[in-house]
Amino acid sequence: MKTIGLIGGMSWESTITYYEVLNKEIVRALGGFHSAKILMYSVDFAELEANMSKGDWDGNAMILADAAKRLERAGADFIVIATNTMHKLVPQIEREIHIPILHIAEAAAESVKRDGFSKVGLLGTKFTMTQDFIKDHLKSAGLEVIVPDASDIEIVNNVIFNELCLGKVLDASRAEYQRIIAHMKQRGAECVILGCTEIGMLISEKDSVLPVYDTTIIHAKEAARKSLE
Ligand code: GLU
Repeated sequence: MKTIGLIGGMSWESTITYYEVLNKEIVRALGGFHSAKILMYSVDFAELEANMSKGDWDGNAMILADAAKRLERAGADFIVIATNTMHKLVPQIEREIHIPILHIAEAAAESVKRDGFSKVGLLGTKFTMTQDFIKDHLKSAGLEVIVPDASDIEIVNNVIFNELCLGKVLDASRAEYQRIIAHMKQRGAECVILGCTEIGMLISEKDSVLPVYDTTIIHAKEAARKSLE
């Protein structure tokens, strides 16, 4: 079994899900007392959040490249970055290490395509919804991507940073997300990608008028599968 190098803590709430899914998938595949081989570096999210607010992405690249290098030195076979937004920095992190990074959007695109969908709604932080680092991977996999309109992007983003990353799950915010998903459906989305690792705390299949693709679950399952290759 390969050793997974997990960069967590962004936020720690969603890293719990990664840890659980990774182990459950290994038990499902191998049974008995088996569990996943994981090295984890969990960052202090306050430092990364402060850098994002200032637009200091190079500062975040340094923190995450340092984490990835530590995991490589400790014996990780590949890296899993447990957040969508920080995938913006994959090119900078990749330059500093010799082991591969398992990309969250590639795993999500494969999963959506396997089910035959081609037009996806995307929810995530405002960086993920407005910039190209996730959308480009979905598009180059042949998917058409729909994001909420500008005012709804603000709502989705504020719920992530002011509530979910702090462990707050509010019914009023779930209702807003449901309205926004329904609107993307009206605009032609056939399914919705939860492109932020905390959204699964708020929205599950039963809350959504569209089939749900939770990047946290998909990414963790793919990492477990890859560790057994
Ligand atoms: N976990 C979130 C994501 O998947 C947002 C936190 C972050 O900025 O890393 O994008």
